[in-house]
Amino acid sequence: MVTRRVLDLEYAIRDVAVVANEVKKTGKTVYHLNIGDPVIYDFKTPEYISQALADATFKGQNYYVDSLGVAELREEISKFENKKNNINTTTDDIIVTQGVTEGLIFTIAGLIEKGKELLIPGPSYPVYINYSKFFDGVPIEYELDEQDNWEPNIDDLRKKITDKTQAILLASPNNPTGLVYSEKNVKEIINIAGEYNLPLISDEIYDQIIYEKEHSSPASFSKDVPVIGMNGFSKAHLATGWRIGYMYFHDPENKLIELKGGIENLARSRLCANSIAQFAAIEALKSPGTHTAEMVNKLRERRDYSYKRLRNIEGISINKPDGAFYMFPKIDLEGFGKWKNDKEFVINLLEEKGVCTVFGSGFGSHGKGHFRITFLPDLETLETVYNLLEDFLK
Ligand code: PLP
Repeated sequence: MVTRRVLDLEYAIRDVAVVANEVKKTGKTVYHLNIGDPVIYDFKTPEYISQALADATFKGQNYYVDSLGVAELREEISKFENKKNNINTTTDDIIVTQGVTEGLIFTIAGLIEKGKELLIPGPSYPVYINYSKFFDGVPIEYELDEQDNWEPNIDDLRKKITDKTQAILLASPNNPTGLVYSEKNVKEIINIAGEYNLPLISDEIYDQIIYEKEHSSPASFSKDVPVIGMNGFSKAHLATGWRIGYMYFHDPENKLIELKGGIENLARSRLCANSIAQFAAIEALKSPGTHTAEMVNKLRERRDYSYKRLRNIEGISINKPDGAFYMFPKIDLEGFGKWKNDKEFVINLLEEKGVCTVFGSGFGSHGKGHFRITFLPDLETLETVYNLLEDFLK
């Protein structure tokens, strides 16, 4: 009565929330460090953007809009991406989606079929793995090298290309490691993609949440290799629940015309993305405000504090993230000799101390022996959490 396709889907980030609910029922306080949603912490959607959403509602813009997105929004997105990346997209190169998540589903649906492979970073954001499998394909992870601050291992990436590879996916800033790929590595990946005639998929949802480095979007360096960039309003504009994102096609030699046509068919089949949120998103792009910079400043302090605390806990090793709001510490499971694997560690920590993180193996095989923690909560909460963690490991 049900397909393997849906039964096999795993999403560790939400799976631990189920255990957290059981723990809550026992009366214990649970500290949520498992979900990358700034809006559930002390970051709020800017008022002028919320006002634009309300205005759109009361102006009656509650109808089905163009399946590819409201024209004015597509135009603003195109201008925004052109300026940021020094590229030449037009409105026709933009498709508005229900979050980057839907952009990923569309792209993977358009590229992957039985036995075809998608090259993704490992550790990997689970959605890349899930949808590759959902469409009967095979996610293949290229290594992000923990010893090299999680930079992609270019030799490994090259070795993993086969005649079934359909595309290479980059996710920078990266979830779960916080890595911002170096410009050198982005350029190397573009060269490899060019050599094998593969498109790049670039998940850029965290591109405005960066602490030191510059973000290098592959589109800004690529003269001929096609790049499908994805971004949205969830993180930079603090509107996670609005479900608005977009894809932009940087395709100077028109290699993706067929794929884009197919993705447009898919977009039409699901009618349209949330209309009122699209009208509000126009406002967010027209007057970008100061909220993103303010959020980054707050987060930098929380990252520095988290790094200082975690690196001083015996049995934990950690890299300092360049962007996004996650850390991906390694836990010396052998040294402690108490937990069989990262999942057991995470569940035990949650049950005993109420600290809810995500087990590393939920981010693919390269995530084993790690856990992901978000440093979105305020400093006071973070202090409590690291004290609890220290206690737990003693
Ligand atoms: N891509 C990455 C790497 C993410 O971490 C997330 C959410 O956490 C998403 C995409 C989802 O973005 P959206 O809310 O635009 O669907």
